Amino acid sequence: MYKINDNYMKLQGSYLFSNIGKKVAQYKKENPDKKVISLGIGDVTQPLSPVVIERLHSAVDEMSLRETFKGYAPDLGYEFLRSAIAQYDYKSRGADIDIDEIFISDGAKSDCGNIGDIFSSDNRVAVCDPVYPVYVDTNVMAGRTGNYLPEKGLYEGVIYMPCTAENGFVPEIPKETPDIIYLCLPNNPTGTTILKEELQKWVDYARKTGAVILYDAAYEAYISEDGVAHSIYECDGAKECAIEMRSFSKNAGFTGVRLGFTVVPKELKCGGISLNSLWARRHGTKFNGAPYIVQAAGAMVYTPEGQQQIKELTGYYMKNAAVIRDGLSAAGFEVYGGVNAPYIWMKTPDGMSSWDFFDRLLHDANVVGTPGSGFGPSGEGYFRLTAFGTHEDTAEAVERFRKL
Ligand code: PLP
Repeated sequence: MYKINDNYMKLQGSYLFSNIGKKVAQYKKENPDKKVISLGIGDVTQPLSPVVIERLHSAVDEMSLRETFKGYAPDLGYEFLRSAIAQYDYKSRGADIDIDEIFISDGAKSDCGNIGDIFSSDNRVAVCDPVYPVYVDTNVMAGRTGNYLPEKGLYEGVIYMPCTAENGFVPEIPKETPDIIYLCLPNNPTGTTILKEELQKWVDYARKTGAVILYDAAYEAYISEDGVAHSIYECDGAKECAIEMRSFSKNAGFTGVRLGFTVVPKELKCGGISLNSLWARRHGTKFNGAPYIVQAAGAMVYTPEGQQQIKELTGYYMKNAAVIRDGLSAAGFEVYGGVNAPYIWMKTPDGMSSWDFFDRLLHDANVVGTPGSGFGPSGEGYFRLTAFGTHEDTAEAVERFRKL
């Protein structure tokens, strides 16, 4: 008789977004005349840039001719895309990343989840709290955690690193020593980030203790301040201890097109074994490549026109971030983030719980956000708003906040 992976039985249901969905659906059913504005989900709303659209069309045309048709992509991804990434995302920032260290994928979520395949199940994992839930859930699935402790809102065996207003949302080196450290900077959900010198301390710590850092830079394109690293490889020694994940979702609007990549440097070795070759083996065995037309379109992001157009796209969302941040702050709310990331993390007023504030906002302002407690126990008392809406909806939502 077969057995299931019973680690799945430890997982909490996708409680957060399904609960939000249910509450909003119920409210809309009871109040069909009300216009509910969502600043809750992390999906983009603006169309793909013209250079990307043009290239998608021309790449489809190439697929229609025997001479230019493409089948399976190379294991690591097309060289034209990997060279553009190596040049623009790394070499131009002083990080010497080779094209053989870049693995093209269908997005950062898959890579964040799948990277665990190359690590043993007895590694000790550290995550920031609050956290992008994929890191924790995929480690639960892999048996790297104990049971969920409902009274604490966390999984046994995981090292949680609280990031709150009190520590400026900068994760502190934990008392227990982890083997695998997840860092997401700029951060989802808090919308905050840390300076390069702070990041360097993590790199130094990982090298000293023999830990590996899994660095999620999905929001890199939103960094606006000097002194913030765009890649962990800007830090000295990071190639010996870090894997970096990137996405085309939030910089170029590829959430529905799907493209991302992971960098595994050749210097990264565990007992003499190269993690680059382990990931190459895993990638080649379990993944058959992102579509040619998508990789071709993704490469357009690195052209001068593409760079200009994605700047306009991220600029559109960051205008929303400023409207939310400034509007809420003027209305007396305590707000964080929204400067180097398209998320605003606000403190709930009057010590309300995250879910009480959610209900109040839905009923009194018809605005939907995400309760911070859904991202981890240290998110309690906070609330996440996203800048991915339209300008019109965002402005109206802020006006409604003011009237609250
Ligand atoms: N990493 C973080 C921190 C995210 O917030 C998201 C999406 O919201 C992803 C990864 C997923 O990116 P992708 O669309 O490339 O799978």
